[in-house]
Amino acid sequence: MNKIAIVTGASRGIGREIAKQLARNQIKVIANYNCSEKEAYELKKELQKENIQIDIIQADVSKREEAKRLIQFAIEKYKKIDILINNAGISEYKMFTDETDEDWNRVMNTNLYSAFVMSQEIIPNMIHHKKGCIINISSIWGIIGASLEVLYSISKAGINGMTKALAKELGPCNIRVNAIAPGIINTNMNDKFSKEELKQIEEEIPLERMGEAEDIAKCVKWLIEDNYTTGQIISINGGWSMT
Ligand code: NAP
Repeated sequence: MNKIAIVTGASRGIGREIAKQLARNQIKVIANYNCSEKEAYELKKELQKENIQIDIIQADVSKREEAKRLIQFAIEKYKKIDILINNAGISEYKMFTDETDEDWNRVMNTNLYSAFVMSQEIIPNMIHHKKGCIINISSIWGIIGASLEVLYSISKAGINGMTKALAKELGPCNIRVNAIAPGIINTNMNDKFSKEELKQIEEEIPLERMGEAEDIAKCVKWLIEDNYTTGQIISINGGWSMT
């Protein structure tokens, strides 16, 4: 039987590319979206043209009940879930002193609580099948911190801590947990930057370009195929940071 994967936030950007990469490699993909219904169904159509079927499920994964509904769909249809990609995320660009409790809740719930809840709800199924692969999409800012993105940096640092701790707890159950920490990737998330600002950033990157979503998706594929990597935060950033 094919491997089964849930990809959160697969309607756009990095998640969309991950969903495509996995589906094109004989993995059965359940692609989650929250608001971008049109984009999600365009992805389904694009893959249908290649004779590849994927499931599209709407759920706000920052809410436990909706995350549970997404997972129940997958278990009822396929009985098992081999792979979880916790990709859904939002950025927040503000002075720290202007951040509100609402900002905190929105960023933490979307970027960190969603990964907690999705993992917690799926792990019993993975333990039952004695295998699993969880990949969290973190960020360079969770490692080195970003000015004007303090909440975002906290949420991604939390993801990194969760990845390492959970890898230790779940290793004996043959469940691997890793994170990918991208640098700057060419998606809507960076629409907040002007062309000049993006050019300036690219000049700081040794490989002299922003990453593409495909650069991240390739690493996801590799992590799934691998058997002995766990608890790692893999930086993919064109050499922007080498910590
Ligand atoms: P994006 O283009 O803005 O896409 C974000 C995706 O997350 C969308 O598919 C969106 O779905 C989904 N999403 C947001 N909130 C959600 C929720 N509550 N429930 C379900 N899905 C939700 O951003 P991206 O660049 O692809 O980012 C993907 C991940 O990579 C994020 O975790 C981000 O922090 C991380 N990352 C990105 C960069 C970068 O430079 N782009 C760098 C480092 C890390 P809908 O549109 O359907 O709501």
